[in-house]
Amino acid sequence: MTVAGQNLKDQIRKLVELQVIDEEIFRFKRELREKPAEFEALKVEFESKKVKLKGLEDKLKSIQVVMKELELDLKVKEEGIARADASLSLLKTNKEYQARLLEIENLKADKSIVEEKILLGYDEVDAARKSLETEKATVLQYEKEFNAKKKQVDDDVAVIGDRLKVKESQRTHIAPQVRPDCLSRYERVLKNKDGLGIVKVVDHTCGGCFMHLTEQVLNELKKYEQIISCDMCARILYLADDL
Ligand SMILES: [Zn+2]
Repeated sequence: MTVAGQNLKDQIRKLVELQVIDEEIFRFKRELREKPAEFEALKVEFESKKVKLKGLEDKLKSIQVVMKELELDLKVKEEGIARADASLSLLKTNKEYQARLLEIENLKADKSIVEEKILLGYDEVDAARKSLETEKATVLQYEKEFNAKKKQVDDDVAVIGDRLKVKESQRTHIAPQVRPDCLSRYERVLKNKDGLGIVKVVDHTCGGCFMHLTEQVLNELKKYEQIISCDMCARILYLADDL
């Protein structure tokens, strides 16, 4: 092999070394991008439970407002009855007396309708309180699950971030050892091909896209006169047994 050939072989060896690191860098970066999605579904559910809880709180409040109005109404009606009762002794004729008695009966009937509404209202308040308590417990459970998942993801992200830093510093050490023209060609493919810039030839096929390689390509590879790429996927090829 010529000196130039030996030189290219050394370059390819370095690129293979770099590829091992770059594969991990790409994997770590992908994991960092995908990690938040792990708690996204839980977050959406947690938020929707909170909205439901708010709805139940509002419902209870509005029932309580109606109850207050009914209680006020009841008080007014009781006062009216008391006034009418007190006025009975002041009436002079039997006709007036009978008319007032009828009025009092009507007032009492009105009052019992309000009382009935209040009783039903108590049941409504009870039911609304119960639903609210149940939903509160559910929200608490979701909050716990969400926080636990979020913490786990945050911890994972920190660990992956550390590993990524280590790999990036290893890369910074090795990359300058590769000839700039070889490096830029490799990095171009690396970027376009999801972190796989240089691939092994396996059984006459490209290790990246598995296209069958011609004898001519294999012969070219053995010469180490120039960098050889796969015609199909453009990844740089190398013969593992040769290195
Ligand atoms: Zn290929």
